[in-house]
Amino acid sequence: MKNFLCLIVFTFWLSSITILYFKGKSEVENKLVQSLVINERGIGQLLDIAIAYNTSIAGQMESNLNSVGSNKYRHPLVSELKDFPEIEAYGLDGSEKINNQPYKANLTGIGSLHDVELKTIDEISAALSLNLSTPLTSENHDFTWSYYTSKSGFVLLAPSVSLNDFHLSEYYYGNPFWSIATPDYNPEKETVISDLYVDAGGQGLMISISTPVYNHQTFKGVVSLDVGVHYLKGVLSSRNVSLTEHLFLVSKEGRIAANTNETSLGNSLIDTKLSVFKHYSLFKYADKYYIKSKLVNNKFYIIYELTLMEINYLIVKKTYNQALIVSLFTMIFWLLVHLFNSLAYNKKLAQYDSLSKLYNRRTLEQLSSDEIKLSFTEKTALSVLMIDIDNFKHLNDKYGHHVGDIGIKHVATIMSQSVRKVDIVGRYGGEEFVVVLPKTNLEQALVIAEKIRNAIAQSTFSDNHRVTVSIGLTQCYNSTNTTTFNDLCQQADLALYKAKDEGRNRSVCYDLVDEKYNKRSN
Ligand code: GH3
Ligand code: MG
Ligand code: MG
Repeated sequence: MKNFLCLIVFTFWLSSITILYFKGKSEVENKLVQSLVINERGIGQLLDIAIAYNTSIAGQMESNLNSVGSNKYRHPLVSELKDFPEIEAYGLDGSEKINNQPYKANLTGIGSLHDVELKTIDEISAALSLNLSTPLTSENHDFTWSYYTSKSGFVLLAPSVSLNDFHLSEYYYGNPFWSIATPDYNPEKETVISDLYVDAGGQGLMISISTPVYNHQTFKGVVSLDVGVHYLKGVLSSRNVSLTEHLFLVSKEGRIAANTNETSLGNSLIDTKLSVFKHYSLFKYADKYYIKSKLVNNKFYIIYELTLMEINYLIVKKTYNQALIVSLFTMIFWLLVHLFNSLAYNKKLAQYDSLSKLYNRRTLEQLSSDEIKLSFTEKTALSVLMIDIDNFKHLNDKYGHHVGDIGIKHVATIMSQSVRKVDIVGRYGGEEFVVVLPKTNLEQALVIAEKIRNAIAQSTFSDNHRVTVSIGLTQCYNSTNTTTFNDLCQQADLALYKAKDEGRNRSVCYDLVDEKYNKRSN
């Protein structure tokens, strides 16, 4: 019973903690998803702004190209173009001013000015009139580039960079910002986003947003906006909701474009297909957990990476209050159960004899006294049997106390089985027992005594041992209500003494009138 209760309490505690754990896990997952959605919006907005800006510059370029054809306007800086023969380039040297303000972009072309065709000069004029001012610039301008690259071999680049650091070469046209926008790859003439690549201007890893520019259906060049990975990282971490997760911006193809950990940029995040993983739910891969956003601008996933330790830490942080209350509640419950158990056990210890499992002498006395009083009030008979095992000392001496103990239990069991539920059976002391039989006169009691005596005499216990008992009987006569349990025991004991005297294994009744002992058996 105690073990069963222990199991129930433990099961209750364990299932509560398990429920709390899974509830906590789903809350943590929700929180991660919320944060993911915020980041998703951040990156989405950044790309939307970048695309809108780029498209508007491309629109400007197309309308500039249209107008240079019709009115013969030339941008003032066209006249300041110079040759730089040592690097086989022409362009501006960076010191030019417009309205007394430094010109904020820089133009460089391949070859010599003399070889540049007139229509290219028109295109250069159209490009110089562009209002390149990236919406993504921060204090440190080297995060982003905004530029127009012409098919005719020149580029206008903002912010301005010295010719020593960058000048145009054929190699430049091999970069993704160009290739993804050309008619071959982008016949729909859409604004496209490149995969991650290493910047030609030495600014590390970039993604480019490129919009092709057409003039009368002829492909002229590409307006591009570069976004450095540091810029992307800034957007990510500023929206990181104080969790311990690592954030990755990963291209559709699985390459890391930004990472709050600053490691492994450009590497493949996971060597399996990202599409295998579900959106917005934790998935385990190798020994880490990942949660993935929807595809942002058809280009990027935002992925959080967490270890099991980090997830568990977040769950514990979320649920430890409730877990503490449940544990405390369980502990108090367990202590109460333990207390009640001990009380019940102690009560039992105080009432019963530990060897025979019968009532001990004290309980026997209490219960019997109550029955004796009741027999007076109800004017009913009540009989008492004093039962003693014969030659018990001999059994002990010959076979040991262990066998003696088994003999006591054996006799106790037979006695209990031979009487009614209302009868009281107790161990009086040593190998002596008392049976109180309410509503039973001496004659009826003798029948029961004989039944007990015969049952014991005919049965064996452990290795075919056998004992007999002698029984003294008395009846509580109703003439006086002063008779006590002890009086009756004394009378029964006198009868028992007689039974022993007469040769044992017999029942003898106490005769009150004659003070004689009636031998009734054997
Ligand atoms: P008689 O027939 O006259 O009753 O002889 P007896 O040997 O039964 O009587 P006696 O009073 O000489 O011996 C009783 C023995 O019962 C002595 C004691 O060692 C033994 N006894 C009392 N309580 C226990 C018990 O709990 N376990 C065992 N094994 N023996 C007990
Ligand atoms: Mg005895
Ligand atoms: Mg005895």
